[in-house]
Amino acid sequence: MNILDRSDLKTKTNLSYFQSEDIAKLGWVQHAFLTRQGGVSLPPYDSLNLSDKNGDHKECVSTNKNLIARTFGFDPSRLVLLDQMQQDQILLLKKPIATLPSPLEYDALITNFTNIYLAILTADCLPILVVDQKRKVIAAIHAGRNGTALRITTKVLTKMKEEFGCSSRDLLITLGPSIGVCCYEIDEKAFHPEWEPFSTSKGTGKWMIDLAQVNVAQTKGEGIEDEQISWINLCTHCCSDLFFSYRREGRTGRQLSFIGII
Ligand SMILES: [Zn+2]
Repeated sequence: MNILDRSDLKTKTNLSYFQSEDIAKLGWVQHAFLTRQGGVSLPPYDSLNLSDKNGDHKECVSTNKNLIARTFGFDPSRLVLLDQMQQDQILLLKKPIATLPSPLEYDALITNFTNIYLAILTADCLPILVVDQKRKVIAAIHAGRNGTALRITTKVLTKMKEEFGCSSRDLLITLGPSIGVCCYEIDEKAFHPEWEPFSTSKGTGKWMIDLAQVNVAQTKGEGIEDEQISWINLCTHCCSDLFFSYRREGRTGRQLSFIGII
């Protein structure tokens, strides 16, 4: 697995972000895992907040969206932001016909269209970006605790195979920053036995969960090998300068991760 850390942070016109080198070098995909830095929103949404559902001013969110689109070279109207539901519904945008439904009550998207930028918003949950290098298909996944329990990552990879004939060996997968095993405590009643290899019991009806590793295990169950995976191994709860964290801050912003075929 290719593990990225703080030293891999990049900057472009005041925006800080992480990228998978493997995806970047393909040349036909644009993607980034943005941080909270470089936007115009005021505290507690400072500053690159992309959610207009948490109390931030719509004009600030819109300016932030425009900043990102301009920096990465696409039209802001091409960014598809979901009404993330913490469930496992997958939006499929497949050529030749595709219209955006409304509302967008999904937690993952898959497309083979060019110039559609799939977006995931997070503040502790795990964003995952997927590329099929051969068939030119991309996906973006919002994997929180519930989505992970519903095996949303497994379901997205399965759908890519069924709908587009994708093969596991052609996929590149990048896991973005999320709350780490250092900080992610959950109650026994929300715990799933299959998470045990990636979790530590605190012995008091509480578990510390490694959300990223649980999702890595889901990709491996679908035939993905270590060398196909990149992981930005930074905890959103620990790194307050870089990331919004719902657990740490409560009322806060959401950082954007996106991917699109140019
Ligand atoms: Zn942490």
